[in-house]
Amino acid sequence: MKTKNFLSKLHWQVALSLVLAVLIALVLKGVGLSESPLGKGFEEFCTFIGSLFMRMLSMIVVPLVATSVICGSMSLGRGRAFLRIGLKTIAFYMATGFIAILLALLLVNAIAPGDVPADVARKILGDAKFDTSTVNAGAGDIAGVLLRFFPPNIVEAASDNTQLLGLIIFAVIIGVFINTLPEKHAEFQRKFWTGFNMLFEKITNAIMRLLPIGVFGLVAPVFMRAGAEAVAPVVVFFITVSLALILHTVGSMSLVLFSVGINPIMHLKAMLPAILTAFSTSSSVATLPVTLECVENSAKVPKNISGFTIPLGATVNMNGSALYECVAVIFISQIYASAGGAAMGLGMQFLVVVLALLTSIGVAGIPSASLVAIVVIMGVAGIPAEAVGIIWMTDRILDMMRTSVNIYGDSCAAVWVAKTENCDVYPRNGKV
Ligand code: ASP
Repeated sequence: MKTKNFLSKLHWQVALSLVLAVLIALVLKGVGLSESPLGKGFEEFCTFIGSLFMRMLSMIVVPLVATSVICGSMSLGRGRAFLRIGLKTIAFYMATGFIAILLALLLVNAIAPGDVPADVARKILGDAKFDTSTVNAGAGDIAGVLLRFFPPNIVEAASDNTQLLGLIIFAVIIGVFINTLPEKHAEFQRKFWTGFNMLFEKITNAIMRLLPIGVFGLVAPVFMRAGAEAVAPVVVFFITVSLALILHTVGSMSLVLFSVGINPIMHLKAMLPAILTAFSTSSSVATLPVTLECVENSAKVPKNISGFTIPLGATVNMNGSALYECVAVIFISQIYASAGGAAMGLGMQFLVVVLALLTSIGVAGIPSASLVAIVVIMGVAGIPAEAVGIIWMTDRILDMMRTSVNIYGDSCAAVWVAKTENCDVYPRNGKV
């Protein structure tokens, strides 16, 4: 009860702090103070507060994920329930990812943001700041994704936020195998992991109380540095991605929630702390503790389901990122076509859809990770990697938005799976 009150107050505090951060940053920039020593000092202070908060969240991710997944999978048992919930979750992630990409494909073809006069297209291609140093960091190719299921060194995987998938698979294996131990030992293991899981949840709860401050620190510097003109050169691209993200969230995902009798507005409201954390951190992984907290305490999803769907979702389910990849690659190809190159055919667009779905599984839940996948897809489509520079400027703000959609998708999966398992999600009369 206490947690619930705290969460419902928290999302207003976080929303207020987000609005304040954007307003203050834009005003400082507008009156020209952002470049003054005072403005710079303020920006540095905010960056410090933001990093401090981000580090606290990241600190708790590995122990929380490991214990949640172990507890989740051990309580699913050995046999059918485990398989059923696992398959449902994966099917949900694949299906909603596919819907998101189809929506993206439709919009990017209808709006055609890259359909510009030839001289403009050539200018954009010429002006793009090419920096490939960060886009070569490990590919999101299919074989690579499969290999990452089994990290050769679990300690190394646990120390690297981009290798969380391996840690999750290992934790699932532990959870499943606990149930194969003689009862005396299995009982001990269950108590051991449950105790640890409770401990890390308590710590998460304490960190979350700092959310409004952390959000302010993370968001203000972004808007002080970027301001509104950051989106100007590729404004139609920005609008296309935003529209697709909004339509997917309020359209497709609402239909999915309605299908199991959940009110999407109530769900959105309950997930606000997680959505706003994702917006501020641009990292599904850093948001994970908050997502778990919201899904378990506000939506009342049982731990055996949330402990499995949410950590898995934060690493493999990226609806927003998949959608973004598709719009980005086709937008860049449209620019090339406008500049005099060949237009992308239907067959290649279909391949982009498939690749966006597959690579989004491999995209790490960290800021700007999609850029790697975009370069991989561009490579297949024969577009030079450097052209990714065209979307560089808008990436930060779109990352905030797509990460919010990513984690919202995870939360929808958790409540959907729980509902289809006849769990009492959002118990009647329970106000969020
Ligand atoms: N930042 C995204 C996430 O963490 C990944 C991406 O699309 O770059 O969910």
